[in-house]
Amino acid sequence: MTELATPPVEEHTGVTRISHWIGGRTVAGTSGRTSPVYNPATGRQTGALDLATVEEVDAAVQTAKQAFESWRSVSLAKRAELFFNIRELVHARREEVAKILTSEHGKVLSDAMGEVTRGLEVIEFCCGLPTLLKSDFSEQASSGIDVYSIRQPLGVVAGITPFNFPVMVPMWMWAPAIACGNTFVLKPSEKDPSASIWTAELLKEAGLPDGVFNVVHGDKVAVDAVLEHPDVAAVSFVGSTPIARYVYETATSRGKRCQALGGAKNHMIVLPDADVDMAADAAVSAAYGSAGERCMAVSQVVAVGNVAEPLIDAIKERIPKVKVGDGMDPSSEMGPLVTKEHRDKVAAYVAGANAEGGNVLVDGRDGAPEDGFFLKPSLIDNVKPGMKAYEDEIFGPVLGVTRVGTYEEAVRLVNDNPYGNGTAIFTRDGGAARQFQFDVQAGMVGINVPIPVPVAYYSFGGWKASLFGDRHIYGPEGIDFYTRGKVVTSRWPDPATSSVDLGFPQTR
Ligand code: NAD
Repeated sequence: MTELATPPVEEHTGVTRISHWIGGRTVAGTSGRTSPVYNPATGRQTGALDLATVEEVDAAVQTAKQAFESWRSVSLAKRAELFFNIRELVHARREEVAKILTSEHGKVLSDAMGEVTRGLEVIEFCCGLPTLLKSDFSEQASSGIDVYSIRQPLGVVAGITPFNFPVMVPMWMWAPAIACGNTFVLKPSEKDPSASIWTAELLKEAGLPDGVFNVVHGDKVAVDAVLEHPDVAAVSFVGSTPIARYVYETATSRGKRCQALGGAKNHMIVLPDADVDMAADAAVSAAYGSAGERCMAVSQVVAVGNVAEPLIDAIKERIPKVKVGDGMDPSSEMGPLVTKEHRDKVAAYVAGANAEGGNVLVDGRDGAPEDGFFLKPSLIDNVKPGMKAYEDEIFGPVLGVTRVGTYEEAVRLVNDNPYGNGTAIFTRDGGAARQFQFDVQAGMVGINVPIPVPVAYYSFGGWKASLFGDRHIYGPEGIDFYTRGKVVTSRWPDPATSSVDLGFPQTR
């Protein structure tokens, strides 16, 4: 591997080469394979991403392995101090990384700032790591014997992340992993990889020792190399359900700990007594924010009884007001989709909906900006199970409406769905809301809140095909995931009381 001080910009094309980060420095890839990175607002290629070989993944893991023993020995006080430094730097430079997100993902700058802020909350949670790693102690468990538990880091842990939150989702992983004393190898999405290199440089500036945080870019070759590597103790994955299932099954069959978060189809139930304007505002915000490319986006409104007509009218009235444009323009509220292929795939769901029995009320293909990968918001009425627009996670600015007669039918729809990430109910009836929270099979529930992403001191995760594994991500379950327990039984006896006793140890 060749070491580079900074990735060179190839002046004649305006395309930046984006390379790996191993052992505290940029390392150019040697595979000869690259992947294009685009600015989705213009459609132009801005980057060429090195795709790692198996050997390059091994180099990152070996570097992280070497860094582990000294990193796990750093005192909790020093680690906490470092996390405060990281917090200050991310906060001071949040606009800088938000611009990187907008230029490669396409989301509008205000939304990118929101992403950084939610990631920052996880870093702030980790500043309290001395408290988070406190354990139990039982004095005099038996005569002269004390018992206590300690939690220790796992070793080298890896994160594999999706395109839609290129800075926040990695923070969900590396922050608790490193706070707990692990060293980390990140394999970010190949579609918007620059935020991961920004993160690596910032962590170095904050004082994180070289080798504790590493980045390898790549595709399936790199992911498989991570999953097969004997020195990777645990894998956190966030992405689509088929890949999440594959990662979980492969990692666990190799003896690794794994949490793999998958896709979603988030239903928002609106009861007849709901405030229609509030529900419409929420549906439009949650369906079209970030062009629908959020795993917690509302993609399906379930209108119960006679709320359907006024609710659809209120949503239709709001859609033309959503300003679609380049995310760098402060007046834009919704940016482009991430790639041309994805834009075309999303557009195909709208194109096919009427033939399947749906009713396209607003077609986002009409009037979408020509340059870049844009689609405007779409609204489809009468979307039902069995239709592609209902069964698939579209992951774009397309909102479906399903009409049902009763609350029971609405809940059945949610519970019959293979996904169970987020869901929401809109109502003024506290009893109905409480019943929903009891009945519904999903990991994150909103009551008059359309995108119920848990705050950083709770944990994030779905049910069913939205999460493989038994630990949710970040928060207390994140600390649990990145540590393993040890129980110590200890005696400091008075030598005068010592004797040979072949009986089984008794506590009474
Ligand atoms: P993706 O599954 O295509 O990619 C995720 C990661 O897996 C990337 O790093 C990618 O390089 C890698 N990958 C892709 N194909 C692979 C293969 N065949 N073998 C091995 N690795 C592979 O997901 P995406 O398109 O980047 O992100 C969107 C998806 O992520 C949506 O389904 C969304 O719901 C989901 N998501 C879920 C959550 C959650 O918390 N549940 C959060 C964000 C995104």
